[in-house]
Amino acid sequence: MSASSDSGNGHNDNSFFNMPTINFTKLFINGNFVHSISGRKFETIDPRTEEVIASVSEGDREDIDVAVEAAREAFDRGPWPRMAATERAKIMVKWAELIEENIDEAAALDTMDAGKLYYFNKFAEIPSATNALRYYAGAADKIHGKVLKMNGDFHAYTLMEPIGVVGHIIPWNAPSFAFFMKVSPSLAAGCTMVLKPAEQTPLSALFYAHLAKLAGIPDGVLNVVPGFGPTAGAAISSHMDIDAVSFTGSIEVGREVMQSAARSNLKPVSLELGGKSPLIIFDDADIDKAADLALIGIMSNKGEVCVASSRVYVQEGIYNEFEKKLVEKAKTWVVGDPFHPKSQQGPQADMKQLKKILSYIEHGNREGATLLTGGNRVGNKGYYIQPTIFSNVKEEMVIAQEEIFGPVLALMKFKRMEEAIKSGNNSKYGLAAGIMTKNIDTANTMSRSIRAGVVWINCYFVLGSDVPFGGYKMSGFGKDSGLEALHKYLQTKSVVTPIYNSPWL
Ligand code: NAD
Repeated sequence: MSASSDSGNGHNDNSFFNMPTINFTKLFINGNFVHSISGRKFETIDPRTEEVIASVSEGDREDIDVAVEAAREAFDRGPWPRMAATERAKIMVKWAELIEENIDEAAALDTMDAGKLYYFNKFAEIPSATNALRYYAGAADKIHGKVLKMNGDFHAYTLMEPIGVVGHIIPWNAPSFAFFMKVSPSLAAGCTMVLKPAEQTPLSALFYAHLAKLAGIPDGVLNVVPGFGPTAGAAISSHMDIDAVSFTGSIEVGREVMQSAARSNLKPVSLELGGKSPLIIFDDADIDKAADLALIGIMSNKGEVCVASSRVYVQEGIYNEFEKKLVEKAKTWVVGDPFHPKSQQGPQADMKQLKKILSYIEHGNREGATLLTGGNRVGNKGYYIQPTIFSNVKEEMVIAQEEIFGPVLALMKFKRMEEAIKSGNNSKYGLAAGIMTKNIDTANTMSRSIRAGVVWINCYFVLGSDVPFGGYKMSGFGKDSGLEALHKYLQTKSVVTPIYNSPWL
């Protein structure tokens, strides 16, 4: 297999990997795999080959209704919210173990569906998903209220109760990670749920549903309904019997989700939206390490990462040397079949994504940025794009402002820290930022000045189950990680009681 960023075509060769058979293509409702009510199906496409992997049952509004009914019954009368939290935890841990036993299959499904690197799925993304399951399993029996000493003859205590039936809507760029960031805390809280995976990547979610049943998650607690956004997705956000919605995706759809939640039953919404994250590199940074981090920050998962460092600002003293190193490294970045162990970048998730990224590259060229490397599709089969770097980018250019969600980096120069702060914050987004410096004062000032939900100092992409994750500004609200995420799925009930026979009663 030829696998250099500058060469060849789609590089697809299944000879080094046994493809899994696709066993789960129906909706998972009330513990069973069922056809959609309409009988309609949609095709899920392998972005490496542009061929159909499988036909998947297409959920629509009426299927969401059935799934919500099952989740409502499981919440109102089923064992899940009522069982000891330690029992819920045991089942969640069992589920994590089953995923680990079947990790090759799970990893391969995301590679086929989303073009993600197989070894990354197997050794990073899915282990972080099972870590999340275990983390929230551990938290399940530590959900506490408070005892409140009231003035007068009463006291109160608070109960942290599960919010009820939750709707989860997730994107395609990290199907396993997104699935467990939503499902794990809501399960630990005692909720039941309906999850809609993205139409591009339904397969791993259905596989996880199968393993959930084997682990002992009671019927109706977890329902997985593949389908399209305007139909199945909108049915979730507008449903009168869903108590909360957790959404990850674009700003445009996040806004629609919020509107239809408001127009229906005023359900609370949490939104994990996009990003245009700055990586800011100071003169005192290790140039080689900075170039590596800048490359990984944007090219990992072919740039289809919400926290991708798509804007890189470099201080003028090291700019020229940094640029040279970065371009050299980008030219050796390996684009190829995501199953191949040497590949560093697989295909974009679908044709729409490929076209969108290429049109942004055209924009960059038209607006007068300098294309240092890349800029083209790789081959003509599969949705591969060369790692692309622009320099001479101006703040107001589209490629510096909009989320491209592809392997396209906008490189800019700065002189002083104040300028870096202003530029770093010059975005409607505020999901993440990276700072590279050896100076603790610079690091402290920058981390407090940048308006973003996560700031990485001398590292990037380092996430952990215990670390809250989510945006500032138009990158959304409501954390998807850490103990804060549990609170999206809980509500507080205050119980007030007299401490002795009050004359008022
Ligand atoms: P998208 O908003 O188009 O779709 C996301 C999900 O919403 C899909 O399941 C889709 O079917 C569904 N959907 C579409 N229209 C809908 C509607 N009208 N009502 C309800 N649901 C609807 O986003 P995408 O293109 O799949 O994903 C890319 C975006 O997601 C990027 O902006 C990326 O930054 C963002 N993202 C954010 C995070 C984060 O944690 N902040 C993580 C991953 C991806």
